Amino acid sequence: MTSAFANAKKQIDSAAILLESEYDDKKRFKKAVELLKKPQNVIRLNLRLKMDNGKSARFKAFRSQHNDARGPFKGGIRFHPGVSEDEVKALSTWMSIKCAVVGIPFGGGKGGVVVDPKQLSENELQQLCTKYSEALVEDIGPWKDVPAPDVNTSGREMAWMLEAYEKKMGHQQPATFTGKPLELGGSQGREEATGLGGFYILQDYQELIGKLVKATRLAIQGFGNVGYWFARFASKAGYKIVAISDSSGGIYGARGVNVVELAKQKSEYGSFSKIPLSKNQKFISNDQLLTLDVDVLVPAALENVILESNAMETKAKAILELANGPMTPEAEEIILNKKVDVLPDVLCNAGGVTVSYFEWVQNLSGYYWEKDEVNKKLKRIMDKAFNKIYEMKKSKNISFRQAAYTLAVKRIIDAMMLRGRM
Ligand code: NAD
Repeated sequence: MTSAFANAKKQIDSAAILLESEYDDKKRFKKAVELLKKPQNVIRLNLRLKMDNGKSARFKAFRSQHNDARGPFKGGIRFHPGVSEDEVKALSTWMSIKCAVVGIPFGGGKGGVVVDPKQLSENELQQLCTKYSEALVEDIGPWKDVPAPDVNTSGREMAWMLEAYEKKMGHQQPATFTGKPLELGGSQGREEATGLGGFYILQDYQELIGKLVKATRLAIQGFGNVGYWFARFASKAGYKIVAISDSSGGIYGARGVNVVELAKQKSEYGSFSKIPLSKNQKFISNDQLLTLDVDVLVPAALENVILESNAMETKAKAILELANGPMTPEAEEIILNKKVDVLPDVLCNAGGVTVSYFEWVQNLSGYYWEKDEVNKKLKRIMDKAFNKIYEMKKSKNISFRQAAYTLAVKRIIDAMMLRGRM
């Protein structure tokens, strides 16, 4: 299997092929592409913790700072046993692309600690956050690198890291981390931002194809932060959600499922498989959900769920990727051949990093916005990105994903050239 970072490099190469004709100085352009295929800086750490049992333990950790030509590095920190240098390098590259796609002034970064956080006590976790932040004190900061939560980290971990960072610096600097609790300078609207941003892209796409909202059937995989909020906004706007799932499977109702009711039932029964079904509903597997005959399929849970093996069976007329990397390149080729539009993750789930950008702006200015203002500004950015990508798609006769990558790579390379980096 090819590595995630090898895939990221391939994606940059294919965007470069589409862009080369736009640059007169081919040698300089090629140098820029080569630079873009390497993170500027990869920090490797070995963190030592004193465990509750008195013994000490060591944890490997990383921070990959991919490219800061457009602004400070930006990206999450994940705590997971599967974290690797290859993974953080790939994820930091995709963050550079995502920030450039939506035109926010950041480059890409990503960090991770090789740890199963479920095996640590709260005290050990706090120490781990403190050590990680202290080790990076020279490398992060509002105008250097701005981390955020990712897999298995949340506002709680950002608060601990902020405290450790500010103690070392000797002054307050909330714009160093985003995804903080509201009490410590977090932004209104961050919780629902990724789902809402995806919903704005759905609205833009509907307008483009001219289909009635009420006649549009959606199937959504995942009912976590992203899937739940997306479903809430879509159902409120009148879309018919015929199926939605969690890790135990999905609930299907041809006439549509009630998202608010399902959320209540999920918190009461624990998982979808335990919810008593009404007579119009049936229980389906996650594999069945992916192959339902719907207008828009929305993978909002895991990576690599649409594969070469099931791509042919998908019947959706469009796929809107809310999860990161839900489709392999091989599967996408099959799906595009069926004339199905794929709205890519780097666009559809960029609402989260966009509101993180708003958090950073609010922290730097010390002035905080109401939720309405956050959402209005988010819509403007998502709509603009969709329109730009669609223009690029049309002018070059390429897919939405190729258009997004081409737009992003061009923006980053232009910034590198203006800085005279090569
Ligand atoms: P989450 O942990 O809140 O929710 C994940 C959901 O996936 C849950 O409903 C879970 O039951 C479901 N799930 C788990 N295993 C599954 C399986 N085998 N089959 C089907 N469903 C399964 O996570 P989230 O924050 O909603 O993130 C979802 C995706 O969106 C991830 O790919 C994440 O990287 C991406 N994403 C999230 C954000 C954000 O702001 N939260 C931003 C950008 C991208």
